[in-house]
Amino acid sequence: MTVSIRDTRSAALYERALRYLPGGVNSPVRAMKSIGRDPIFIDRGQGAEMVDVDGNRYVDWVMSWGPLIHGHAHPDVLAAVQRAAEHGTTFGAATAGEVDLAEEVSRRMPSVEMLRMTSSGTEASMSAIRLARAATGREKLLKFAGAYHGHVDGLLAEAGSGLATQGIPSSPGVPAAATANTIIVPWNDSDAVRRAVAEHEFAAILAEPYPANMGLVPPADGFLELLREAATENGALLVFDEVITGFRVSSGGVQGMTNVLPDLTVMGKIIGGGLPAAAYGGRRTLMERVAPAGDVYQAGTLSGNPLAVAAGLATLALLDEQAYLRLAATTNALADGLQEAAGDRPLQIATAPGLLTPFFSEEPVRDYDGARGADHDAYARWCRALLARGVYAPPSPYEAWFVSTVHGPEHIERTVEAAAAAFAEIGS
Ligand SMILES: *Cc1c(COP(=O)(O)O)cnc(C)c1O
Repeated sequence: MTVSIRDTRSAALYERALRYLPGGVNSPVRAMKSIGRDPIFIDRGQGAEMVDVDGNRYVDWVMSWGPLIHGHAHPDVLAAVQRAAEHGTTFGAATAGEVDLAEEVSRRMPSVEMLRMTSSGTEASMSAIRLARAATGREKLLKFAGAYHGHVDGLLAEAGSGLATQGIPSSPGVPAAATANTIIVPWNDSDAVRRAVAEHEFAAILAEPYPANMGLVPPADGFLELLREAATENGALLVFDEVITGFRVSSGGVQGMTNVLPDLTVMGKIIGGGLPAAAYGGRRTLMERVAPAGDVYQAGTLSGNPLAVAAGLATLALLDEQAYLRLAATTNALADGLQEAAGDRPLQIATAPGLLTPFFSEEPVRDYDGARGADHDAYARWCRALLARGVYAPPSPYEAWFVSTVHGPEHIERTVEAAAAAFAEIGS
């Protein structure tokens, strides 16, 4: 049985939005084009649920793409933001909260002794690259196919043909010169990494240690260790983009979980607790190259914004050992439930504590080619059928599902039930 949702108000807003916003949205994935439907306009969120402008209610597995690890409108986070707002929303001057947050992040992330805050992950990765280039006196970057580090010119690069290739711009408007120093290597391909480091002198090897922007594709055994060795031998800095994984897969991100320590770490999403904040950090000697301690220029009007800092601190304060046990248990229960709902259909669920991706694929997905080879049309139909049944799954096959501390058995049950019905609707 095909089920559909009420969408009169969303449709009317979309029509207006198309007049003033490109594609009707402020960030592409929200348009829901890759699952073949129009965007849904959200009215409000509470805990693990969202309600759209037409009154449809959803279990939310997107959670603003990661920041909301305690769900929507968590009372502690709201109270912290309200308290901060009453004292003024921005000063462009130093505040105590920034020191508290930097100290807390440094306590959690093993390789981060010092950090600089920015307003977005894009800005943080752009700045980390600048610092890596300054520190090494080199320009080349190694990046993995399918990894996303924000819309930085030099990283909006696609692989050409061959195993490790010079990047070609993946968007019009990115100068070829901006990606000429970006070498692209397939994820989980140790030989390709070895060849690339034998051939080039890199400023940085840049990786999402658990890539989650081609869907979640965990590293093969020993692959992160290989990156660490390859960077050291090459004289490059190892930069982990933990914008998604930081404070999620463990208190100390992937580096806390694996003990593979990068030279620089890019953070975002959870660090701002649902408000715009991000950061890059590393050991003191490196970070003291950043102005005004050092000569590498980087600045931001709203960097370390008091509201975002308050939300980040309140969010981290709730992330204790219990919270991580709960996140891991909920992730496993969701993965088991989805697998069961799929029955005999080929569904490969990649998981890490706090996130997962169901690939409609016969084979486990190891790299970007594998992710691209999954059945995206089936995912699109399934995702539309889930939305119609009150489950807000990522409207793209290249994204992860984000688990929060406020998702519970009831949300899993509703999701698994809807998933089974959605599988039945789309056929095999
Ligand atoms: C979201 C994301 C970014 C970009 O962060 P923005 O705040 O959207 O600019 C960078 N890297 C990774 C791994 C991300 O998931």
